[in-house]
Amino acid sequence: MKLERLLQSQGFGSRKECRALIRAERVSVAGDIIDDPFAEVVPENLEFSVNGETWRYRPQVYLVLHKPTDHECSHKPQFHPSVFSLLPAALVTRGVQAVGRLDHDSTGLLLFSDDGQFIHFWSSGKKRVPKVYEVICAETVTAEQVAALLRGVQLHDEPLPIAAAACEQTGERALRLTVTEGKYHQVKRMVAAAGNHVERLHRSRIGGFTLPADLAPGQWRWLEEADLTQLA
Ligand code: URA
Repeated sequence: MKLERLLQSQGFGSRKECRALIRAERVSVAGDIIDDPFAEVVPENLEFSVNGETWRYRPQVYLVLHKPTDHECSHKPQFHPSVFSLLPAALVTRGVQAVGRLDHDSTGLLLFSDDGQFIHFWSSGKKRVPKVYEVICAETVTAEQVAALLRGVQLHDEPLPIAAAACEQTGERALRLTVTEGKYHQVKRMVAAAGNHVERLHRSRIGGFTLPADLAPGQWRWLEEADLTQLA
């Protein structure tokens, strides 16, 4: 593959922009600056650097972000910065999308990819992927509220009651709630329907994948093969 095309495929801009980067000697491969945009490279596992930052060629990308509060999961946020502002520009240019959404005031595990099938599979409520939320409520949690969440609560626009797949009280005002759908404001509305109010909401797990403990709010990292296997 020609170097300019490889850079373009990885999100470093249009072909013209990639060519200019290469001609300006901003790109190196295996430690050597290459100034020929048409130099042939073998993409598989290729390490290259652009403006001093090292990258590995990835045909598709999968990553996890620890979403901080006060960020919107939209490319056109209305009131807060976008979660996409926390990712390198090259990943946004190559079209990564969030897998489902978290509210602007929710925190925790948010997946991104540019693989359409992956995004569809993990964000579709029909697949009933369990998502685990740590909830801090405004009021003391009661046994009756936990029972109601497990039995099923009626949400306004739903024909049938929705039940948590699992629910346990983890503190006086704290719950660990697992849901398998992906409805709008689902956890907040379920907790409200059970007679309490969500004060803080943090997603800790999707499927078998737990938010890495060493990932601080606002940080992201690649999902590697082993992570993707865990997720499934
Ligand atoms: N349910 C909610 O109410 N909000 C979220 O951000 C995620 C699930």
